Amino acid sequence: MSVPSEVYLKIGARLPAPALGAKPRCAQLPTHADVVVVGAGVIGLSIAWRAALAGLTVVVVDRGEAGAGTTFSATGMLAATAEHESGGAALMPFALESQALWPAFCAELEIESGVNLDFRRSGILLVALSRDELDRLRARHTFLTNSGLDCAWISGADLRALEPGLRPSACAGIYCPNDHQVDPRALVTALLSALTLRGVTLIENCGEVGIERMNNTIEGVRLSDAFCRAPRVVMATGAWTAMSDLLPAGASVPVRPVKGQALALRARDQRQALARIVWTEQIHLAPKRDGRLIVGATMEETGFDASVTAGGVYALLEGARRALPCIEEMEIEAIWTGFRPTSDDDAPILGDVDGSGLVIATGHHRNGILLAPATADAIVELLAHGEMPPKARGLTLKRFKRED
Ligand SMILES: Cc1cc2nc3c(=O)[nH]c(=O)nc-3n(C[C@H](O)[C@H](O)[C@H](O)COP(=O)(O)OP(=O)(O)OC[C@H]3O[C@@H](n4cnc5c(N)ncnc54)[C@H](O)[C@@H]3O)c2cc1C
Repeated sequence: MSVPSEVYLKIGARLPAPALGAKPRCAQLPTHADVVVVGAGVIGLSIAWRAALAGLTVVVVDRGEAGAGTTFSATGMLAATAEHESGGAALMPFALESQALWPAFCAELEIESGVNLDFRRSGILLVALSRDELDRLRARHTFLTNSGLDCAWISGADLRALEPGLRPSACAGIYCPNDHQVDPRALVTALLSALTLRGVTLIENCGEVGIERMNNTIEGVRLSDAFCRAPRVVMATGAWTAMSDLLPAGASVPVRPVKGQALALRARDQRQALARIVWTEQIHLAPKRDGRLIVGATMEETGFDASVTAGGVYALLEGARRALPCIEEMEIEAIWTGFRPTSDDDAPILGDVDGSGLVIATGHHRNGILLAPATADAIVELLAHGEMPPKARGLTLKRFKRED
């Protein structure tokens, strides 16, 4: 039965998560743990999994459902090259490292969970659709090449041979061969299954979380009348971090929500499908194994306003049609919004907060899926050995402290 059109936009706020399998949804809070992770998005779940693999006892708590913060909103691109911007020099080594970690991270997680992440090594094509865009694309190619990133200039004829469905005005492209993609919903499912296997306790819909401190040392975490003694707490609370009561008095974390609207189309005819991700100046189009074509995403500074707007949907559809005319015949399956956790310099904020045992992992902006493996490794290194690896050391909260 098809969904009546008037219900369409209302149901589209978030794609439904796939069946989650056996997991301790209403688990009891254990009395002890080595570390409590607050936040069950891709960052918190990845940290929890890698920490459990390193032999730590881990509890994850979330006031909502795992993945339902921002992670389910993501397209799942691992786009270290396509996302590279001027001013991103500090982030680039970390992003490239995480991209290089992805194949092993994915293989290990797929084996452990039995879940296919739809990891597609098909690269990203950046496309120019007009003469003006062509000039800017040439400048972008020079910038990416000068930054030492692997990418190739593609002529219009070659572009259309690679993706015959593109509008004939597509006049050139840049191919980024190392920028792949996964399915974020499958990723969450896989991480939950791996956590179960590794004995990690996950408590969703946990209510208010409180951290108990003695002097400047964390004693543990409280959920209503239950207490878990733990010397370390990791805040992986995404776009909600700056407003969190878990931060010590006086601490401020420069992270804000940057809203993104996106939608999923479904091709009725598989000949309409793209073979790889296509980016234009307006939108990205990402084909998924299950036949969806994700169209993303707006960038809006409107706080935590989750509304789907006419302007947002128009911009996505107009941008998609301009690149791929056959979208006109595709079915709109879902529309949703999400809140990128964005720091003042667009790079993540990782590491110790105040020497009390509180660790932070937030600010992943447009790249939380890409950066999950390197973030998890950096935080687990800190938890297990007291220091983050060199590529993460420039990403601490300290970089925002003003020298007065
Ligand atoms: C439209 C869109 C497209 C995107 N596409 C991509 C992409 O292609 N590739 C990519 O790499 N990234 C992409 N991103 C970015 C990516 O989604 C985010 O960077 C990533 O999901 C952040 O993960 P997280 O775990 O930090 O946050 P979240 O997934 O938001 O998880 C944080 C969790 O913390 C919980 N929480 C918050 N406060 C508390 C509290 N006080 N107590 C208990 N729990 C709490 C929340 O309930 C939530 O579940 C996209 C984002 C958007 C919006």
